[in-house]
Amino acid sequence: MIKKVLVANRGEIALRIMRSCREMGIPTVAVYSDADRSSMHVRYADEAYHIGPAPSVESYLNIDRIIEVAKKSKADAIHPGYGFLSENAAFSERCKKEGIEFIGPNADAIRQMGDKITARKTMIAAGVPVVPGTVDKITDFDEALKTIREIGLPVMIKASAGGGGKGMRLVKKEEEIESSLRGARSEAKAAFGDDSVYIEKYIESPHHIEFQILADKHGNAVHLFERECSVQRRHQKVIEETPSPLLTPAVRAEMGAHAVAAAKACNYHGAGTIEFIADDNQNYYFLEMNTRLQVEHPITERVVGVDLVKEMVNIANGFELPFKQEDLKQSGHAIECRIYAEDPDRNFMPSPGTIRHITEPLGLGVRHDGYVYEGYTIPIYYDPMISKLIVWAKNRDEAIRRMSRALEEYKITGVKTSIPFLARIMEAEAFKTGKYTTHFIEENKDFLFAKPECDGVCEDIVLIASYLEYSAKLEKTRSSEPIVKPASRWKDSQRGAFI
Ligand code: ADP
Ligand code: ADP
Ligand code: MG
Repeated sequence: MIKKVLVANRGEIALRIMRSCREMGIPTVAVYSDADRSSMHVRYADEAYHIGPAPSVESYLNIDRIIEVAKKSKADAIHPGYGFLSENAAFSERCKKEGIEFIGPNADAIRQMGDKITARKTMIAAGVPVVPGTVDKITDFDEALKTIREIGLPVMIKASAGGGGKGMRLVKKEEEIESSLRGARSEAKAAFGDDSVYIEKYIESPHHIEFQILADKHGNAVHLFERECSVQRRHQKVIEETPSPLLTPAVRAEMGAHAVAAAKACNYHGAGTIEFIADDNQNYYFLEMNTRLQVEHPITERVVGVDLVKEMVNIANGFELPFKQEDLKQSGHAIECRIYAEDPDRNFMPSPGTIRHITEPLGLGVRHDGYVYEGYTIPIYYDPMISKLIVWAKNRDEAIRRMSRALEEYKITGVKTSIPFLARIMEAEAFKTGKYTTHFIEENKDFLFAKPECDGVCEDIVLIASYLEYSAKLEKTRSSEPIVKPASRWKDSQRGAFI
């Protein structure tokens, strides 16, 4: 039985994992870099150990150092979270060798699924539909041209080792093949140290729909339904929701069964995600498998009523899954917004800095997975995600209104955030009707990036002035004069005017 868990991660996901461990009565160990001395995960954990300088290669990716800390602190299991070492087969293997339980899949499954070319072959053998394209890597132009003429344009040239939207090129014309092939390969080499690429058909009107799976060490596997992740920027998710507005119950059940088959095909155990790309007519194809806990896992937890981290720990402990497929149901609707310290009106430039003030949204149906606090300085070294805001309601319309309300309550000063941009998405017609694809942000950019008349500084001043005026009026409540609340900042910014 696992007695102590080291969390090899930082930020909101480290905290989220520690919370479940605490509920299970399992003490936790935090690790931190120079840049994270005052991070919340360090304070929350039962023990915390410094592991190195700020750059992740010298700290959160330093396998030797993390293993050393696990031994010193007598942690008998490691949860890797997402990113960093979560999909690193060598790390999973090393844990095993050291007698430490890796809370995730074994190295073979990570290898088989981490390489997209191998994964495609495995899926074809398991009878799961894959995006039409090559099953071997493409190295030169002539081969690429021949393949593309067979598949037909448009196509995607994709890195086999790909992740985080990197090493991917859309090719619409034959003239673009040469530069796209070169671009995808050099980007893949730089990001993953492996320049293998393959070619697949570009699915028009793409919908990214992924299925959460759980599998134990006894051969049992279930899916926990889908997440719709088509609101994307540069192939990276911005908002996720479940259920998907696109799927009919019959197609959902069929995709779920394929997701379970995919997990079984690689002898998977733990939590994982099977990503599919679907067109407007619900034709769907396997895209890739993520062999880890996903950023957007909370929407599944809310709609299915399962704590995925607890299940991961139980699976690692060798327990059988406590439910069968027929026990699992989707109830209501959940949406997640990723809140970033970046400026959407300046091409999403990262906006690191010190949090001056934060008011987190509360109330019925709201979950906020964050880690920053007033006075905290967001380091420049890591992903600038501040938090995830998750809402649940009994249906989609109510969930959208609840998200708008929660975003309106959410106030952060000191850094720029994506909050106003996310609020505008909630107001966009294509989002409200649920008829959107991965082109949503591009197609709605005029609406989403409507320029307010003054910049951020001006915004802050107007906000402060209006609240000063409001509180002055509140003091006069005994007078008969009606109190008019200052108009909401975000609502007004949508109209391009303040107050
Ligand atoms: P999701 O967001 O659905 O969980 P992503 O593929 O976007 O899946 O990755 C999740 C996290 O892992 C993000 O923080 C992302 O930056 C990080 N990540 C994914 N792949 C890589 C990679 N190859 N190198 C560095 N970070 C990665
Ligand atoms: P990553 O490992 O970087 O997450 P994915 O293969 O999951 O890469 O693709 C990321 C995103 O890129 C998808 O969600 C989708 O928006 C787009 N994409 C990838 N392949 C295709 C395709 N064949 N057709 C259309 N869009 C695609
Ligand atoms: Mg992906």
